[in-house]
Amino acid sequence: MTKTNLCGMFVEEIVAATSSCGLEKYRGRQLAEWIYQRQAADFEAMTNIPKAKRELLAANFSVGIVTLQAEQAAADGSTSKFLLALNDGLAVETVLMRHRYGNSVCVSTQVGCGMGCVFCASTINGVVRNLTGGEILAQVLYADKVLSQNNEKVDSVVIMGSGEPLANYDNVLKFIRLCHEEYCLGMSYRSFTLSTAGLVSGIDRLAAEGLPITLAISLHATNNTERSLLMPINEKYPMEQVMAAANRYATTTGRRVTYEYTLIAGINDTDRHARELISLLRNRLANVNLIPINPVPKQGLHRPDKASINRFVETLKRGGVNATVRREMGTDIRAACGQLRHKVLNEVDNT
Ligand code: SAH
Repeated sequence: MTKTNLCGMFVEEIVAATSSCGLEKYRGRQLAEWIYQRQAADFEAMTNIPKAKRELLAANFSVGIVTLQAEQAAADGSTSKFLLALNDGLAVETVLMRHRYGNSVCVSTQVGCGMGCVFCASTINGVVRNLTGGEILAQVLYADKVLSQNNEKVDSVVIMGSGEPLANYDNVLKFIRLCHEEYCLGMSYRSFTLSTAGLVSGIDRLAAEGLPITLAISLHATNNTERSLLMPINEKYPMEQVMAAANRYATTTGRRVTYEYTLIAGINDTDRHARELISLLRNRLANVNLIPINPVPKQGLHRPDKASINRFVETLKRGGVNATVRREMGTDIRAACGQLRHKVLNEVDNT
């Protein structure tokens, strides 16, 4: 019999799940604190719960979700990438980035991805399955545990790892709400950024939650023809619909929307593209985040040189569009989406 895992449950759910063990109600909160704040490896460690109850719990439930399968650290120590194995043997990537302004964790929301963007490694073998809320949370908890060795903690979460978060809506929302609970990580909703390839119905649903989460839209192109070549999802949700939804999100939440634009040499980095981007985004509550592509082997796509990147960003700024270039963290450790998992999968295939 597989034991029910308590990690990923709200206190009320823990209370309901464990009611057959004859625990007093207040024990639910104790369990949550052990699981989320102290990250107890097993029930045995939960010493404020009577021993007999701990044994009963251990016979019926589990708490662990991920184990480290591979790790890479950038040469400058700023970024660590973890390949974390899930209980069914699949693995996901999680990236810990240490910025001057705090520690940020990039979580995956699916094993693989179904979006098919041509520049991305996560999607090469399609989507395998959705992660549960607990599996997404376990990635943040893992990073938090690593940080706690230096008395540090996770300050912000970017939902930008492998997977399309709005294609796994309920689990992603549960994850965010759990992180917010004070018996869990007590994080404010403002410290979350969710990146989407542009699932319009999901964007509207998120707006209706009334949470001040930052929304990031993967744009990557300036017209539908070019965007469809890079992102097949554009056939279903064309750019103007995505941008209209992003506008509604900005109006409803008052939050500035981030547009991500991966710069690919010769494909979307010319002066014409910069000018078109300006006409699309001027007068909107928007930031542009330029991401020089992390080239995936065999895809034949290349990163523009530094001069072209600078010219692009300067053109945007002169045109009145807020733009920043994403700091290149972890290129030396294949921090681009899905690249570590893809490498490990291939090594396994090749043996
Ligand atoms: N499914 C979500 C999250 C994807 S990852 C989405 O589409 O937004 C976060 C960002 O990295 C997205 O903008 C994605 O398009 C971009 N990205 C993926 N692979 C990349 C690569 N090799 N180089 C640069 N950016 C990449």
